[in-house]
Amino acid sequence: MPQKIFKQHVELHSHLGAAVHPSILWAIAHRQGIKLPTKNYWEFEDLITMTGEEKNKNLDQMDKQFYHWTELIQSSPEAIEESVKGTIAGGYRKSNIVLHELRFNPMKRNRGGERDLDHIIYSALWGTERAMLEYPQVRAGIILMMGRSLSFEQNSIILDKAIKYKSQGVIGIDIADPERKTFSMKKHAPLFKKARAAGLGVTIHTGEAGSLEELRYVVRQIKPDRIGHGILCVKDKKVMADIVKNNITLEICPTSNLRNSVLKNIGELALVVKTLLQNKVKFTINTDGPEMYKSNIVHEEEFLKKHGIMSEEQLSKCTAWAFEASFIKK
Ligand SMILES: [Zn+2]
Repeated sequence: MPQKIFKQHVELHSHLGAAVHPSILWAIAHRQGIKLPTKNYWEFEDLITMTGEEKNKNLDQMDKQFYHWTELIQSSPEAIEESVKGTIAGGYRKSNIVLHELRFNPMKRNRGGERDLDHIIYSALWGTERAMLEYPQVRAGIILMMGRSLSFEQNSIILDKAIKYKSQGVIGIDIADPERKTFSMKKHAPLFKKARAAGLGVTIHTGEAGSLEELRYVVRQIKPDRIGHGILCVKDKKVMADIVKNNITLEICPTSNLRNSVLKNIGELALVVKTLLQNKVKFTINTDGPEMYKSNIVHEEEFLKKHGIMSEEQLSKCTAWAFEASFIKK
């Protein structure tokens, strides 16, 4: 579709493990001689994507079932470069994404320490550069993710790498993985402080399906620039007021929330959006990874309009908020 008749889009919340087209991953897997559990391409595509009818029972199931294979296939410098480049280029061609932030956890791409982290990260940055060379209309950057499943020491290493590569295209830091008892947000708080002091953008996955308590702590004590999901805030007017006061922007991923059973149905999604708008919470529309959910930014917007959840004008406001909240500086 020619760009001139097509609105400019921004993607702020997309996981590399869920963003690469299955045909690209299929080719990479074969080139690297990775033994796949499927007989043919279509079974493979089924394995790593979700149809409209499929739902995960919870976030843990999503993590184990889908990310296992995509992370394994992406675990080499060559694979990561091609994955990043293909995702940013494809995002521009399909959805006119001109500002593209892509995130991944480098420690889940180095086969348990077998591959060198610097090579993995540098390859991702080179993939970003190659995409921007081919499509100069696009600006893109990488967010390195820490994980609730990793130790504090491992997460500290990821942050140090993010700081090291800040001038070369790493734009921010995040933490993800489903909530678990072994993880302490409080213990990790100094890492976010260090990230901010180094000039990195800070976003945190919280308030998705976990506890309102953690979300409150993040909003009031860590005060990140953005929050991944954060939709649990609609249950607490005070926390919404603090999100507004601290100028935090939420990264909302409608299809992902429905597929992962974080929201039960479209009615619940509509209520979340309505409550955020009423309480003047700034938010952006994202995919969480277009290929796994068989979605893209244009689909997300069409879906919200079709169900009368958001108007064109409200969606344009979200896009404007996304430009403002991006970690990619002009
Ligand atoms: Zn996410």
